[in-house]
Amino acid sequence: MIMKLPAFRTVFEPFRIHSVEPIKMTTPADRKARLATASYNLFQLRSEDVLIDLLTDSGTGAMSRDQWAAIQRGDESYAGSPSYFVFRDAVRDLFDFEHVIPVHQGRAAERILFSVLGGPGKVVPNNTHFDTTRANVEATGAAAVDLVIAEGRDPASLHPFKGNMDLAALEALLTERGADVPCVFVTITNNSGGGQPVSLENLRGVRELCDRHGKLLFLDACRFAENAWFIREREGGQGERDVVDIVRDIAGLADGMTMSAKKDPMGNIGGWLALDDPDLAQECRNMLVLTEGFPTYGGLAGRDLEAVAQGLSEAVEHDYLRYRIVSTAYLGEALQKIGMPVISPIGGHAVYVDARALLPNIDPLHYPGQALAVALYELGGVRSCEIGTVMFGRRPDGGEVPAAMDLVRLAIPRRTYTQSHFDYVIEVCERLVERAHLLPGYRITQEPKALRHFTAQFEPITR
Ligand SMILES: *Cc1c(COP(=O)(O)O)cnc(C)c1O
Repeated sequence: MIMKLPAFRTVFEPFRIHSVEPIKMTTPADRKARLATASYNLFQLRSEDVLIDLLTDSGTGAMSRDQWAAIQRGDESYAGSPSYFVFRDAVRDLFDFEHVIPVHQGRAAERILFSVLGGPGKVVPNNTHFDTTRANVEATGAAAVDLVIAEGRDPASLHPFKGNMDLAALEALLTERGADVPCVFVTITNNSGGGQPVSLENLRGVRELCDRHGKLLFLDACRFAENAWFIREREGGQGERDVVDIVRDIAGLADGMTMSAKKDPMGNIGGWLALDDPDLAQECRNMLVLTEGFPTYGGLAGRDLEAVAQGLSEAVEHDYLRYRIVSTAYLGEALQKIGMPVISPIGGHAVYVDARALLPNIDPLHYPGQALAVALYELGGVRSCEIGTVMFGRRPDGGEVPAAMDLVRLAIPRRTYTQSHFDYVIEVCERLVERAHLLPGYRITQEPKALRHFTAQFEPITR
């Protein structure tokens, strides 16, 4: 007789390590010196001076054996490469749009699309614009408005789909300013709002409003697979479905998408713009040829197209997604237990710490998120990313206002770190919570006009 055993609790990495990269050890004193040299901007550090790099999950994942093998099949023909068709078919297997235009990364797709659809007087709604999306909308003179549901702005809310669009607010905007809205965007998952998913039901609601007002619906679909996994886990009636079918449902609701293949598709570089409208596609291809390249490579090598095509099939594997979401939650729940205020539920690709709540003594205009990110690096060599007033506080007119939230994102590169790396991060955070009241705020001493977080220089405000 075969006994039915209870399922095991431990969800382990569904892969073995095939090739390793060394981590160079450093001390807090080393890192203090590196910080001063980098003007307290973590983007200005050399990555070899970082122990655990949680700056971003973008392009930083480990490729699989099969992706490296696919790279060998890359065909570098300028026009009509077979690698393009492998890539196009892999995209269309999930997102069945007529036109698939490769680009070197997501922001190139944004720049091309908004240079066609944007312009002064226009307004683009989104649940929450990602930083490059907002910058590319605003660079055309258009306005970028964020219409996420109220729960999405409340770090403590346990709403299962905190990335949802506020349908009433969207309807009001479309009614009042319909003529100025060239398209509606939905970001899945909502990166800047905590990596929170959007439900199928909400997407259907957005689609319905777009139909009623005759608007195109675009997805910023960087983390479509994680979003689909959350739908499977949390949305009524979805629990038994294949993630691939959920993704196809999502795609079927939209008219097009912008995409960074550096996220869920597990490429180190790449992206695409896909859409159905033939005239709009032609205008976008004209822009593409101007700055990215011929439409069958779009600024990528043939080998990159092959790696992304293979990565797409791995991104929707259930064992992978289960491990991915559980390991991110492992870090987030441990941080909660040691008293770090984190956004819950835990997002898919990252844990977001509420720095404003942890550091109430630092004024938002003295950047509590920056203060926490700098301290995490100095104390433990852990690099994270401020998502708050540094990233979003500067207005196009040069003024400054506190962002909706001051968060620090610990983004988890795909298939790259093991549980003991996370245990170390948890220990660093535990020490940091004890000395949170001692951290200084920061001021900016130099900044560029757009996307200032990448290059701004800071100094600590000594008390
Ligand atoms: C990363 C990202 C982008 C931009 O993609 P890049 O490849 O970094 O240019 C756009 N939107 C979202 C939600 C992202 O996470």
